Amino acid sequence: MKTIGVLTSGGDAPGMNAAIRAVVRTAIYNGIKVMGVNQGYDGLINGNIKEMGLSSVADIIHRGGTTLRTARSEEFKTEEGRKKALNVMKVFGIDGLVVIGGDGSFKGAEKLSDEGFPTIGIPGTIDNDLGYSDYTIGFDTAINTVIDAISKIRDTSTSHGRANVIEVMGRHCGDIALYAGLAGGAESVIVPEVGYEVDEVCQKLIKGRNRGKLHSIIMLAEGVGRAYELSDEIEDKTGIETRVTVLGHIQRGGSPTAFDRILASKMGAESVRLLIKGESGKVVGIQGNKIINMNINEALKINNNLDKDMYELTKILSI
Ligand code: ADP
Repeated sequence: MKTIGVLTSGGDAPGMNAAIRAVVRTAIYNGIKVMGVNQGYDGLINGNIKEMGLSSVADIIHRGGTTLRTARSEEFKTEEGRKKALNVMKVFGIDGLVVIGGDGSFKGAEKLSDEGFPTIGIPGTIDNDLGYSDYTIGFDTAINTVIDAISKIRDTSTSHGRANVIEVMGRHCGDIALYAGLAGGAESVIVPEVGYEVDEVCQKLIKGRNRGKLHSIIMLAEGVGRAYELSDEIEDKTGIETRVTVLGHIQRGGSPTAFDRILASKMGAESVRLLIKGESGKVVGIQGNKIINMNINEALKINNNLDKDMYELTKILSI
């Protein structure tokens, strides 16, 4: 392995820069040249590539977003598109690739590997929706952003005696709602893996109100439904004034937490070690505080189950 390429793809996540830095520095430490690919797989097809030296990744460990930028590439999904990418990599002398992204990006990485090109994936997504890894890069920062928002919303909610529905990201995965809901002391946590009964949510609100509670926070994962509809239903059924906050892309930005920076640093270094060992078609992850690796196809088959104990705990603690 003489030269490796690194790219970020799909949705961005805080901590991607820390991962890029770790890839670049670990490779150079091992005498390997690094080429940074801009704008994901599109950049690989178009040759939007430049060499990355040690100082190219100085001063980025604390920055949100991705300095390599990211993209979604329809062309890369086609065999022809990937042929172009393989040719470009030949021209630039790239003989191994690290892809930082989510499950979609991993499918692209798997295809490249099946087509004979050494490729390793690093999980970068705020959704934490990859079942093979306890955590993905960006998730911890996102839930910290959400609990910060919950605290602020709770202040005004208490002053006015209102209920608040807070809609968070996560696509089909309820982890952002669950973790931020538990950490933020939400009264109800609604996730796609379980679903909800609006009457149950309303009963809880009324019970809390009768006990003298001044606020109620209802965490709603985007994969279950829309916050405005739920809020209207709650107001109709309970008469309690209910407001909505859809947090949106604020959850994707910000300086990564220490946890995400450390996770990204460990995973970035491991991806380079795997390429040096001659591995391909693998993704790195974390299980029980240990960095692991796994074949991409196996990793993508593992269901991302909700932590049911944690879900039950949110119910017990918000009684
Ligand atoms: P994420 O990686 O965050 O899940 P996407 O699902 O948008 O984001 O995937 C990012 C990119 O990965 C896509 O734009 C596409 O270029 C590539 N990709 C996704 N699925 C495939 C696939 N089945 N085959 C090849 N490339 C894919």
